[in-house]
Amino acid sequence: MTTPASQTLASVAREMDHVGQQLLQRWDPELQRRFMALSQCLQGLAEQLAVEPVLRANEELTTLWRHIGKRRLGNADNLALRQQLALVTQLASLPLPGAGKPLAANVTPSHRLFLLAPQAQAPAAALLEQLACFGYALEVFHDEPALQQALQLHEPGAVIVYHSFEADSMLPLIGPLNCPLLFASPRRDFAARLQAVNAGGQGFLGWPLAVRELLDGLVQPMLPDRRNPLRVLLVEDMSSLAGLYAAVLNRHGILTEEVTRPSQTLEAIERFRPDLILMDMYMPECDGQVLARIIRQQRLMDGIPIIFLTMEKRQHMQLDALTLGVDGYLTKPVSSEELVVTVSTRASRYRQLRSYISTDSLTGLLNHSHLFARLEYEFARAQRERRPLSMVMLDLDHFKHVNDSYGHQAGDEVLVSLSRFLRERLRRSDLIGRYGGEEFAIVLPGMGCEQATQLLDDLRDAFARLEQVSPRGRFRQTFSAGVCSSDGVWDVVALVQRADSMLYRAKAAGRNCVVRWTPEQE
Ligand code: GH3
Ligand code: MG
Ligand code: MG
Ligand code: MG
Repeated sequence: MTTPASQTLASVAREMDHVGQQLLQRWDPELQRRFMALSQCLQGLAEQLAVEPVLRANEELTTLWRHIGKRRLGNADNLALRQQLALVTQLASLPLPGAGKPLAANVTPSHRLFLLAPQAQAPAAALLEQLACFGYALEVFHDEPALQQALQLHEPGAVIVYHSFEADSMLPLIGPLNCPLLFASPRRDFAARLQAVNAGGQGFLGWPLAVRELLDGLVQPMLPDRRNPLRVLLVEDMSSLAGLYAAVLNRHGILTEEVTRPSQTLEAIERFRPDLILMDMYMPECDGQVLARIIRQQRLMDGIPIIFLTMEKRQHMQLDALTLGVDGYLTKPVSSEELVVTVSTRASRYRQLRSYISTDSLTGLLNHSHLFARLEYEFARAQRERRPLSMVMLDLDHFKHVNDSYGHQAGDEVLVSLSRFLRERLRRSDLIGRYGGEEFAIVLPGMGCEQATQLLDDLRDAFARLEQVSPRGRFRQTFSAGVCSSDGVWDVVALVQRADSMLYRAKAAGRNCVVRWTPEQE
């Protein structure tokens, strides 16, 4: 819902944008006066509506104008003004928090970021807005005590520290953290980076912060390890031993699940999706070798590394001859260090290999065939457990036009940006695939049609507000989507077809919208 006051805010901003553009072309005292009057009017409205980002951005814009004054605009001034003007217009036309949906409603702890930066270096309001579109909230602290106090109360997803890395400057002392520490600096040279690494920095960002770089810095390589730890399934009939190994692995940040009966193994693999299986050689119900063979026969489980726990070294020789596809052995009693090193190196190698094979190289999303395999599996599981599942087909609108107007490279950037956006905004258990070209498929296990449609519509709205930047200009990109749930559908082919035909309807309905399947539409 847009309130009248917010509409005025947006229209004043539009007018300001218009006058500002003319002023950038040609200096004129009359235009300048009008511009300043509009800016003042906008400031008043923004104050009345208490929209901080607009207030701050507009103040900055006025300062820029004053600072530049009547002198001829250089290229740098012109660019700075243009950008700031665009920012004010953009912020002023966003729905008001409270009036519309908040941008980052449920910020998870890992999406909460702390920034330590001096007052003079406060980040632009646009950065906060754009990060919010990706589900991140950036909290800014101007001194160390304030940051430390916040750290006592909450553990953020990352701490970012601004530092000039000038010769006489002191690096702020940030105690040991449970989350990644990143430095941000206008300096990017080797000496600065070296200092940052020595101070415990796990990432180095440019300053002022750029949304894209920041998201990249957060996604790789630090956060996945904390947000998505390696997973190990432990199959061991003696629960005291199982408990011991699990405790060691868990302490080293490796998520471990124990199974004490071999017959529970397949179900546990399906549910837990381990990166590695650690298996006892001798169990009463079924021995390790046989169980390994059973696991290898399952299509989606093929390739998971299996490490055997054996009693004596001599057995390794026999096993090599007998069992194919075994990836290693550990001899009981296993030292903690050996356990952690063996398990984590093989599990992470497997994870990496798997990502090469199953993901699309441009976007990092599941490719077509893997998406289908995983969909089949999730579909069967949903039917078995009588839980809902929704399927979404999504296609970028008029994407050909983007390639034609801004170049293929810009088109690729949009694809990457959407992939990142979807990954950030969806749950870990959702499947996201690049179905081909500029078409994406999303599988939402556990989610009914109505909820999925609402979610997609929120995503559509947020993505459409993001500004895509390319050397040939800035633009917005929208998408259309078709949604369908597994309710009453007998196989995945029918499911995909339904979602696909709803996508077609969304296109026919004018694009930039989400259409859900209903029985009447058959
Ligand atoms: P519509 O709204 O109907 O979907 O229009 P559209 O232009 O998006 O659809 P159309 O199917 O006519 O064109 C799809 C375009 O997507 C054409 C193709 O060049 C572009 N495309 C597909 N894959 C890629 C890619 O990997 N990178 C880039 N840059 N463009 C791609
Ligand atoms: Mg045993
Ligand atoms: Mg398209
Ligand atoms: Mg298409």
